Amino acid sequence: MEEKVLKRGQEELRKQVLETRLCTGCGACIDLCPYYRSYRGKTAVLFPCVIDEGRCFAYCPKIEVDLDELSGRLFGKPYDGNPLGSYQSITAAQAGDRLKDIAPQAGGTVSALMYFALKKGYIDGAALTDRKGLIPVPRFVTDAEDVLACSTSKYTAAPTLSAVNQAVKDGYKNIGLVGTPCQVLATALMRSNPLKADDFVDPFGLVVGLFCTWAIDFRLFEPFLAERIEISRIRKIDIPPPPSEILEVFGDNGTKLEISLDEIRAIVPNGCSYCIDMTSEFSDLSVGVMEGRPDMNTLIVRTDRGRKIVEEAEKEGYLTLSTMPEENLEHLIWAAGNKKKRGLAKAQDEGMVNTSDDETKAYLRMSVEVLGRLTA
Ligand SMILES: Cc1cc2nc3c(=O)[nH]c(=O)nc-3n(C[C@H](O)[C@H](O)[C@H](O)COP(=O)(O)OP(=O)(O)OC[C@H]3O[C@@H](n4cnc5c(N)ncnc54)[C@H](O)[C@@H]3O)c2cc1C
Ligand code: SF4
Ligand code: SF4
Repeated sequence: MEEKVLKRGQEELRKQVLETRLCTGCGACIDLCPYYRSYRGKTAVLFPCVIDEGRCFAYCPKIEVDLDELSGRLFGKPYDGNPLGSYQSITAAQAGDRLKDIAPQAGGTVSALMYFALKKGYIDGAALTDRKGLIPVPRFVTDAEDVLACSTSKYTAAPTLSAVNQAVKDGYKNIGLVGTPCQVLATALMRSNPLKADDFVDPFGLVVGLFCTWAIDFRLFEPFLAERIEISRIRKIDIPPPPSEILEVFGDNGTKLEISLDEIRAIVPNGCSYCIDMTSEFSDLSVGVMEGRPDMNTLIVRTDRGRKIVEEAEKEGYLTLSTMPEENLEHLIWAAGNKKKRGLAKAQDEGMVNTSDDETKAYLRMSVEVLGRLTA
């Protein structure tokens, strides 16, 4: 009997991710070929493609993600559903004295790590997220000073991974990335050589993941803010850690606008509600804001190469580390576990986990034991 070919191409991605509004605009399918574009937060298919197995489908973090396989490749063990993923250590962190001029979102740990990794040659370029007005703009930088220009959080979902795809085409082989958990998940897929290419090389030298509970849909955020403030006057946006429950918008004339997070949650992309990762579990290093200390970060070290860079950056004065208070760690585990259970319950209810039907692909795959435990 002729073997049935499971199609994993543009048509399947369009039907099951774009048309179902699972897409969060991560950029993993952009700039691989001329057929996709990201325009003001929307991922658009420009031309049809008939390839049965495409990199667009293979890299997308919203379809056929086998968590056991990815965990096995990166951490040497199956996915176990731990709220914070696999890690070696968790500390408090801050940019060190050698980088006092930066104006970061929180402690500047992310910019310090990328700056150091680029300066010391651990990476040959970094895919970061800059902004033009309110639009988040992917930017590939090769000069450490340019890392600092991309600091601060743009809370709208961004197509940052398109800058990785372009850098790979340009021949870069040791790429650094700062991304949200869905983007980091896409890097794990990219690193797993999903299309079994003979000449495959892992293009990443360092993947730094951000914590993320949700992002904001740019297309809804811009008009929402324009009713409240002149967009060109926005200097910085911040979401202070709980229990504040507000989004702060700082204007260039010293003004501060406060918006309730209940209003913001109404303009979060649909795809975020299925997301089960708060701390970028498939990164080398993960960074978030530390509760109660908005000038500091929580830093999770997951891999040996991440640990080496952190240790050297600290030794050379680019990073300062301190002990993470126990109550902060407990709350982080609680919040990450909550997000995992919430997203998984929704995906499970809608038949998107471990689906075995050829027509309707799964969003996530994991062992029956872990799925049962997380949805019990
Ligand atoms: C959408 C979003 C949601 C977040 N949610 C949480 C949360 O729930 N809890 C929490 O603790 N932290 C969250 N963060 C992370 C937090 O805002 C800080 O980015 C993090 O603590 C690092 O702080 P820092 O001072 O080291 O960053 P900086 O040194 O200022 O560096 C920020 C880095 O973030 C990158 N970046 C900015 N915007 C984006 C984007 N849209 N997509 C991908 N990369 C981007 C930039 O390239 C830059 O390298 C979120 C960030 C984003 C972008
Ligand atoms: S989630 Fe990312 S890879 Fe998937 S369709 Fe959207 S932009 Fe493309
Ligand atoms: S909540 Fe998940 S899907 Fe949404 S932007 Fe954050 S990491 Fe991506």
